[in-house]
Amino acid sequence: MVWPLLYGPCSRTGLKGELMETFDWIVIGNGLAGAALSYELARLGLSVLLVDDGNADSATRCSYGGVAYWSGTDAITQELCEQGIKRHRQLSDELEAPTEFRELDLLLTFAPDVDGSRLEKQYGQFAIAPRLISAQEAHALEPQLKLDAIGGAFTIKHGHVNPLKTLEAFNQAFRRLGGQQMIASVTGLVRVKNRITGILTATQAYAAANVAVAAGGYSRKLLNAAQLSVPLYHTHAEIMALPQVEQSLRTLIMPAVASRFDAEATASAPATDSLWDGPPHKIAPPILDTGVIQFLDGSTYIGQISRFRTDLDTSLIDAAQSEASLRQGITAQLPCLANLPGHWRHCLVTFSRDDLPLIGPLPDIDGVHVFSGFTSPFAMLLPVARRFAQWVHSGQQQPSDALIEKMLVTRFTHA
Ligand SMILES: Cc1cc2nc3c(=O)[nH]c(=O)nc-3n(C[C@H](O)[C@H](O)[C@H](O)COP(=O)(O)OP(=O)(O)OC[C@H]3O[C@@H](n4cnc5c(N)ncnc54)[C@H](O)[C@@H]3O)c2cc1C
Repeated sequence: MVWPLLYGPCSRTGLKGELMETFDWIVIGNGLAGAALSYELARLGLSVLLVDDGNADSATRCSYGGVAYWSGTDAITQELCEQGIKRHRQLSDELEAPTEFRELDLLLTFAPDVDGSRLEKQYGQFAIAPRLISAQEAHALEPQLKLDAIGGAFTIKHGHVNPLKTLEAFNQAFRRLGGQQMIASVTGLVRVKNRITGILTATQAYAAANVAVAAGGYSRKLLNAAQLSVPLYHTHAEIMALPQVEQSLRTLIMPAVASRFDAEATASAPATDSLWDGPPHKIAPPILDTGVIQFLDGSTYIGQISRFRTDLDTSLIDAAQSEASLRQGITAQLPCLANLPGHWRHCLVTFSRDDLPLIGPLPDIDGVHVFSGFTSPFAMLLPVARRFAQWVHSGQQQPSDALIEKMLVTRFTHA
């Protein structure tokens, strides 16, 4: 297999012979994945075009922005978490713009009828294990919590950034490095025999030596349209965004038992894979994982409903009903959030089959990489983007970085 990684000065030959730029890289998607990757590629002196369709409801823009740097469970994820938190601690300085990084108390709450000690083993698997505390101790950390609504919680120091500010900081630094950014929907990849040579938008084609698909939950469909298949899956996630909350919340609250992981395992099982390319299919019932985060400006996200549907259609979702469920879930714990104005938001969240991201060149075709499927991306994505960029810039066909090698798409396609 040949994976040419062509660098050097930009050619001035367009797809149809007219004068136009050929980028070293085109990155599709300006979520956390595309923003960090495009920045890292530009940092290495490559010419990069970052294209995003401007959808305000991407997963990154709906995200809590929690940096779960304590959550490594094996050598790979522990190393990524350690490198990730190190980067976050100095990222505002590096990018010369605030990401609003801070550390706050995470509360993983559980219901009064749950025996918290039975969850301790599950939390003991993490590099830094969250500590079991009583409802009273949780209330001391978050005075807005209704004491009798929870049986207790697990707590740990959690990193936190403002996802929007982090995107802006990456984008500004990227443009300062000479990167070009464009708002346009990518309608297809330009395929010439066994090579992807660029992208198509409604109005124009853009040429590149390499295209990176970092389009989150839309990556699979985009690649499918070019007859390329990747084992990436998505959930439809829903939140309520409250623009201004006067009551101050000190903690990030999430459930100690997040139900969506089991459904994600079913959704990404090899036996289910073919359903993702067929007619719309409902894989599992929707799940509500009640949580809340308040940003430094007082805006607050209440989450999260996850729906396991293979299609991208949102018209079947009853937003009013979702809003009622989200509000009911959180006000049981935080009555201070009742009746505050807010609006419903929807996004797609992508994931892979084994919790590691899906990155690297696709097999049997040149010029196209995927960079998606991150679990806990705020904790782990930054070092992956840097190490991935270093590898592709090195010109080596195979990564010498053992960690990057473990994340390559080919771990599934060559199975
Ligand atoms: C409620 C909620 C809370 C979360 N909390 C956390 C958390 O605390 N910590 C954590 O680590 N993770 C969290 N996540 C997950 C995390 O936010 C996502 O996994 C991550 O943001 C995904 O980033 P991405 O860049 O891969 O995808 P996205 O952010 O979805 O970005 C993909 C981009 O590609 C664009 N795009 C798609 N198709 C096209 C096209 N054809 N042409 C051009 N552009 C296109 C989209 O508009 C989008 O901007 C949360 C997610 C949700 C929904």
